[in-house]
Amino acid sequence: MRRDLRLHDQAALYYALRKGLPVVVIFIFDRHILDTLDNPYDRRLTFIHAQLEKINQQLISLGSTLITFHDTPLAAFQKLIQQFDVQEVYTNRDYEPYARQRDQQVAAFLQEKGIAFHDYKDQVIFDRDEILKPDGSPYTVYTPYMKQWKQKLNAFYTRSYPVEKYAGHFFQMPALSLPSLESIGFRPVYMSFPPAEPDEEIIRHYHEWRDYPAKEGTTKMSVHLRFGTVSIRELVRKARALNETYLNELIWREFYQMILWHFPHVVHQSFKPEYDRMEWLNDEQAFQRWCEGRTGCPIVDAGMRQLNATGYMHNRLRMITASYLTKDLLIDWRWGEAYFAKQLLDYDLASNNGGWQWAAGCGCDAAPYFRIFNPDLQAKRFDPDLAFIKKWVPEYATPEYPVPIVSHEEARKRCIETYSRALKDRMKPAR
Ligand code: FAD
Repeated sequence: MRRDLRLHDQAALYYALRKGLPVVVIFIFDRHILDTLDNPYDRRLTFIHAQLEKINQQLISLGSTLITFHDTPLAAFQKLIQQFDVQEVYTNRDYEPYARQRDQQVAAFLQEKGIAFHDYKDQVIFDRDEILKPDGSPYTVYTPYMKQWKQKLNAFYTRSYPVEKYAGHFFQMPALSLPSLESIGFRPVYMSFPPAEPDEEIIRHYHEWRDYPAKEGTTKMSVHLRFGTVSIRELVRKARALNETYLNELIWREFYQMILWHFPHVVHQSFKPEYDRMEWLNDEQAFQRWCEGRTGCPIVDAGMRQLNATGYMHNRLRMITASYLTKDLLIDWRWGEAYFAKQLLDYDLASNNGGWQWAAGCGCDAAPYFRIFNPDLQAKRFDPDLAFIKKWVPEYATPEYPVPIVSHEEARKRCIETYSRALKDRMKPAR
């Protein structure tokens, strides 16, 4: 299991169990990933651990148990094949570059040992080459991709995998307990997580409520989609029945996954290479103030403080804070992307990278560079009674509140000049 932490409607698990051989479920606390996390209070580890605990209890009630490793994936498989007579390995596909390379390495190792490796589509409705332009190339603009996606969709693609039918095929063994968070180098964070079941009332009103950060108007499914604690097929069935705008957002998620699969260079570079000629100001002090929510721009500060305090930020605020960092402060989108990656409970490389490149104007289907969010107008429109700002910035409008780092009007002019300079000669090679 990786980003598919559930025992229901799960493709790889279904195919493994259906095969008829006894199935052991394993999870690897991957040292390659964990060793890069420098905060022992990383909220994601608490979330993952709690979910694995649930899965282990479910498996124990079926006479089996979850087997975990704290290792590199290759070392874990080396140990596993000494413990069990492994015939086949089943897993769900992950489209991130690191995951692809990891799976290739593991598959090659298993092949050497005569063990088959199968991977399945599970976290999206359509993957890889399933939605392409008529000429066979990948879409780079959302709207035609979305149309094609909807055209192809039928009940077959959203049918759940009936894992429970084969629940008798789990390997029967004595219960094991999970390693504690402390034993793998982390500490528990005491917080509540959104329920894995979306609120249907919110989905019904999604198109009216979704832009107002002070309201509980979005479904908070992102962390569950990220770790697979909800099935995308169930969610798409609900979206189709209840709200088209909501379905469109789920398609944005797949669009960015598909962009990452076809254009892995976006991890480090702008989708449009000429944007890598930008002369960012990269003022470290201004960046620090942005991170801490002390820019003096109230709606930006409110969003950043929500992020720091909860590990979540409303989508409208993600757009506003990202636009402010890249366009008003002229700080490289990669700095902001990396900060979000550390803080977000729902951090997902494809959506985060897509969102940042969209905001900075350098992405595949991005906001043009000269369309610059005016944060005060955004606040007036989407937080008209200041409820969100007052919640997160209690010292707003008092002498304690910081003086703004920049005036938006001046920053706007500076931004347009800097972007136009970088894009002036599109033929010049990128730095
Ligand atoms: P809802 O509004 O209820 O939407 C339902 C689901 O649709 C979401 O859970 C998400 O899976 C998907 N979705 C909605 N909007 C988008 C979008 N713009 N792009 C892709 N998928 C979308 N989303 C992440 O899951 N992880 C990230 O790391 C991430 N980083 C972002 C960074 C920036 C700069 C921006 C502008 C957006 C980012 N998003 C990211 C997209 C979006 O902000 C979140 O998915 C959303 O706010 C999560 O809240 P929700 O589950 O209540 O969303």
